[in-house]
Amino acid sequence: LTLLAMSSFLPISEIAEVSRHLADTLGATRRLYTVNSEPIPVKDGTGLIKNKNKNDLVLKNISFKYRNQNEYALKKINLEIKEGSTVALVGPSGAGKTTLAHLLMRFWDPDNGTIEFGKFPLKDYRLDDLRSKIALVAQDTFLFNDTLQANIRLANPGASRRDLETAIDKAALLDFVKQLPLGIDTKVGERGMLLSGGQRQRIAIARAFLKDAPVLILDEATSHLDSISEKSIHSSLHQLMKNRTTVIIAHRLSTIKNSDMIIVMDRGEALETGTHENLLMKDGLYSHLIKHQLINTSVKA
Ligand code: ADP
Ligand code: MG
Repeated sequence: LTLLAMSSFLPISEIAEVSRHLADTLGATRRLYTVNSEPIPVKDGTGLIKNKNKNDLVLKNISFKYRNQNEYALKKINLEIKEGSTVALVGPSGAGKTTLAHLLMRFWDPDNGTIEFGKFPLKDYRLDDLRSKIALVAQDTFLFNDTLQANIRLANPGASRRDLETAIDKAALLDFVKQLPLGIDTKVGERGMLLSGGQRQRIAIARAFLKDAPVLILDEATSHLDSISEKSIHSSLHQLMKNRTTVIIAHRLSTIKNSDMIIVMDRGEALETGTHENLLMKDGLYSHLIKHQLINTSVKA
């Protein structure tokens, strides 16, 4: 399971990509970053002594550009995500939603501005520590050529059997597991290729339950699910969001409507911020997106 072993069959660019995929599940990702060849590596922080501050996430004037792009992916973003609140990022593909979420986990550092978590800059945290506080369910889920159980346990190796089973149940994977010849001990195949996109996504959701982190990022977390599995997972996801700081990207319109704050993004900019009602009254971009059902292009309402 070491990255060095994997490096023998993955190109360098993919190693960096894999290390990012792993960051949501593994605590000890810091060492993975030492072998990647990104131009500006993320440096580990020195660590914090316990602080009692509210774990608000605050983005101050964030700008970020990918090295191989000319345009900034994020432009002067200011955003305050209160501990325990739910914030929805909406906007067309390429707006910068995923990039913003990834900066919260320090997959990259912003070129300008600072991000604070609990009043301390992200850079002060040990990467392991920071990433142990954030669970990410993304569009694509990285799986090892190992058992289903091992792939879910990555999120929390010390979890009890009971917690594991609860996580599997909540992720609506129980029926699937029951029909597997070896149950949770079934190998899910080389890089998980034997599973459907929806099954992989539900594994990511099971990991998030098992990880039980204070911050949850759902980035098109149900995009691969058919409407039946999405329905069955919907209440679980809401349960998962409870009492956590949640950033949701491109989710059901009903979830977006109920979030504490909606950020409408386009071309790297946060154009509108407010609640569903506020933004509808404003009659700007958000209400345009709603009226023309553009939010539903990647969202199942
Ligand atoms: P969204 O999640 O809103 O669809 P992204 O954050 O994925 O948007 O992308 C924002 C911009 O950054 C797009 O122009 C996209 O092409 C670019 N981008 C995203 N990821 C990378 C990457 N790994 N390398 C280079 N450019 C990227
Ligand atoms: Mg995205």
